[in-house]
Amino acid sequence: MKLPPGVSAEQFQAAVQRMQAVVGTDWVLTDDADIWTYRDSYTPFYGDQVAEYIPSGAVAPTEVAQVQQIVRIANEFRIPLWPISTGRNLGYGGSAPRMSGTMVLDLKRMNKVLAVDEHRCYALVEPGVSYLDFYKYLRDHKLKVWLDCADPGWGSLIGNALDHGVGHGPNRDHFASICGLEVVLPNGELMRTGSGALPGSKAWQTFPYGYGPHIAPMFGQSNFGIVTKAGFYLIPEPEVARSYHIMVPRHDDIHPFLDQMAAMVCDGTLNQSWQIDSPLLGSRDPKIAAAVERADGGSSSELDQMSRDLNIPYWGTRIYLHGSSKVVDAKWQDVQSRLSNLEGVKFKSGNAYHFPDDYDKVKDGDDGDVFAQTACGIPTMSIYGMGIGGSNLPTRGPRARLPHGIGFFSPIVSMSGEDWLGVQKVVRQTERELGMPLSRSAGGWAWFRCTLVLLYVQPIVDDPEKNLRMMDNVRALAKACARHGYSEYRTHTVWMDDVMSAFSFNDNALLRFHETIKDAVDPNGILAPGRNGIWPKNLRGKKI
Ligand code: ADP
Repeated sequence: MKLPPGVSAEQFQAAVQRMQAVVGTDWVLTDDADIWTYRDSYTPFYGDQVAEYIPSGAVAPTEVAQVQQIVRIANEFRIPLWPISTGRNLGYGGSAPRMSGTMVLDLKRMNKVLAVDEHRCYALVEPGVSYLDFYKYLRDHKLKVWLDCADPGWGSLIGNALDHGVGHGPNRDHFASICGLEVVLPNGELMRTGSGALPGSKAWQTFPYGYGPHIAPMFGQSNFGIVTKAGFYLIPEPEVARSYHIMVPRHDDIHPFLDQMAAMVCDGTLNQSWQIDSPLLGSRDPKIAAAVERADGGSSSELDQMSRDLNIPYWGTRIYLHGSSKVVDAKWQDVQSRLSNLEGVKFKSGNAYHFPDDYDKVKDGDDGDVFAQTACGIPTMSIYGMGIGGSNLPTRGPRARLPHGIGFFSPIVSMSGEDWLGVQKVVRQTERELGMPLSRSAGGWAWFRCTLVLLYVQPIVDDPEKNLRMMDNVRALAKACARHGYSEYRTHTVWMDDVMSAFSFNDNALLRFHETIKDAVDPNGILAPGRNGIWPKNLRGKKI
C-alpha cells in the first residue's frame, strides 16, 4: 500500500477507523482489490507501479455531514483527499489522485437529483448523478428540458464541469452552465456560493452572482473545496434539431470561413458545438498522404489541386441547429447566405429529429455523425466503440494492437485561420524534431466561445519505455506551443505541473496567487495536493 507522505501505517489505520465510524466499515476501502478500481485504467505509467499515482484507499460518504466529518479527520491525521464524483475522467487521470498515497473521496453514492425546473430550465444535483442517470430522470418525469452531456454518459455533471469538460449542445461549456455551488471547504466548513449564501434563497439556480465577488469559478480546476451540490442551466426541449454539412474547397478559404463562423457564434446563430476538420488531409489517398508527409507538409497549391482532382473538400464541418422549425429553417438560410461568398462552398442538409417523439430514434453513427446523440442531449457510451482504447479492451489476443489507453494533448487557439494553421504548424514541426509519428489533421472543436480545441490523442501502450517517451514528447509539444502563445484547456494529472508552469506571466503571478489562496484555505494541505499544479506549502517545490 502507498501511504501519504509523512503518515505512518499506524496513523493511517487510526484515521481509517475514525472514517469507518462515520460511513460504516464497508465504505472505507483499503484492500488492494478495491484500490485497483480507483487506479487510472489509462495510466501512462503502465507496468511501473513505483511511478504510478496510486491511492492509499477510498472513502465513500452518502451525506454532506459525513463529507465534513471526513475532512476534519483528514486534517487531524494529515491524510490528503482526492474528491471524485463518478471518477470517469479517463484520458485526464481517471479516478486516481495526482500524488500517491492520497485517499480518494468517492462521492458517487451522493446521487440525488434535488430539483429540476422545466420553465426556468435549471437543475440542482449531487456529485454522483451521471449523465445517464439524469437523462433517465428527465425522461421518466417527462420533463421538456435537455441536458448537455459529455461524450461518455457514465460521467457526472459535476465532475465533468469541475474539470472544465465539454459537450455538444448549447450549454457545451459545462462549467459556464453552473449556477450555484455548495462546497465543503478544506477545514470542513460548508459554504454556498452566489445567491445560495442567502438562507432560503429563491434564486440560487437562476442568479449566479449573489452579492460580492463571484467565487464559484474558483472551484473549477482547483483544489480549494469539495463540491457537494451544483446547479446547472438546462436547455428547453426544441421542436427540432437538424444537422447540416458545410464543405469549403480551398486551403486559404480557412481565413474567411473561420471569421464568418466566429461571427455566427458571437451573434448566437450557431449555438451548438461543431468541429472543423479536413476531409482532404484526413483522406487515405496515397498521393495526398505522400504530399502531407513531405517536409513542408505539402504546399497549399499542390493540395488545392488534389482537392479539385479528387473532389474532396479541403475543409468541412457539420453544424446542428435547433429550436422551432421556423427558426431552424431561417437560421440555415442565413448561414448559407453568409458563407456564399466562398467560391465553390457546398451545403447539405442532414437528419432532422423532432422532439419528444425522436429520443429513441437518434443513434450515434446516423448520417455519419458519431456524436449524434450527445448533440441532441442523449447520453451514450458509444465513444468506447470507436477504438480509442477503452480500459476494458483486451491488450492481448486478436485486438492486441489497440492501445492500453490514451492521454490527450489538447491545445486551444482562437477561432481564426491564422491560429488554426499556426498551432498545427508548430505541432508538426515539433513532432518532426522529436521523431514522432506525424499527426495529419487533429480536428478542432468549437466547445468554447470563439475558441477551437485540438485533440491530439496519444496512445498508451503495453511498453513502459514508449510511454515515458510519449510523456516527454507531450511536454515538449506543450512547451513549443506555449512559446507561440498556445495553451491547453485541460490536461492529464501527469502533465498538470507542466501546463501550469507555462502560465508564467510576470514571474508566475497567477500560480503565486493560487498558492496564496491554497495556503489560506487549506493550511494542512489535505485537499488534492498537486491538482492543476497547485501544491500545498508543505509539498511545494518537492519533486512528487
Ligand atoms: P467524471 O466522472 O464526471 O468524468 P470525475 O469524477 O473523475 O469526473 O472528476 C473529474 C475531476 O474533477 C476529478 O479528478 C477531481 O479532481 C475533480 N472533482 C470531481 N468531483 C469533484 C467534487 N465534487 N469536488 C471537487 N472536485 C471534484
